[in-house]
Amino acid sequence: MTTSIEETLVLVKPDGVARNLTGRILARIEAKGYQIVDLRMVQADRALLAQHYAEHEGKPFYEPLVEFMESGPVVAARVAGHRVIEGFRSLAGTTDPTTAAPGTIRGDLGRDWGLKVQQNLVHGSDSPESAARELALWFD
Ligand code: GDP
Ligand code: MG
Repeated sequence: MTTSIEETLVLVKPDGVARNLTGRILARIEAKGYQIVDLRMVQADRALLAQHYAEHEGKPFYEPLVEFMESGPVVAARVAGHRVIEGFRSLAGTTDPTTAAPGTIRGDLGRDWGLKVQQNLVHGSDSPESAARELALWFD
């Protein structure tokens, strides 16, 4: 299968940074063969998070999600490779870390902490359109 090189936005969320898992998470991305082509640590403000999570506005978990995401720094990575958008989503595992498959980042390193938001360590763009939109928010 031939595909052109894609880019995706990965965020190590505040729980991942606070638990000192940034290096392990980035190492897993590199070990799978993807390229980290840009990297920054960001204290996100509400305006940035409102744009980033616009699709979830109005949902019950939206407010706790934004509060969680602004609770501490995140590490934003621009990651490149063939089919990296679906590849990173697969590496991250499903949204709920309690049931995310072992072998995935969320499944191996995450769990439910009894909080109002799923602290699931990472974000990854879910489509080429989301990736372009989110990379522009976090990197341009
Ligand atoms: P993702 O693409 O797998 O990150 O999941 P979504 O885009 O659906 O949701 C964004 C983020 O909101 C997730 O990563 C979780 O941190 C949080 N979240 C999503 N759904 C729920 C939910 O049903 N309950 C709670 N508490 N948090 C959620
Ligand atoms: Mg999503």
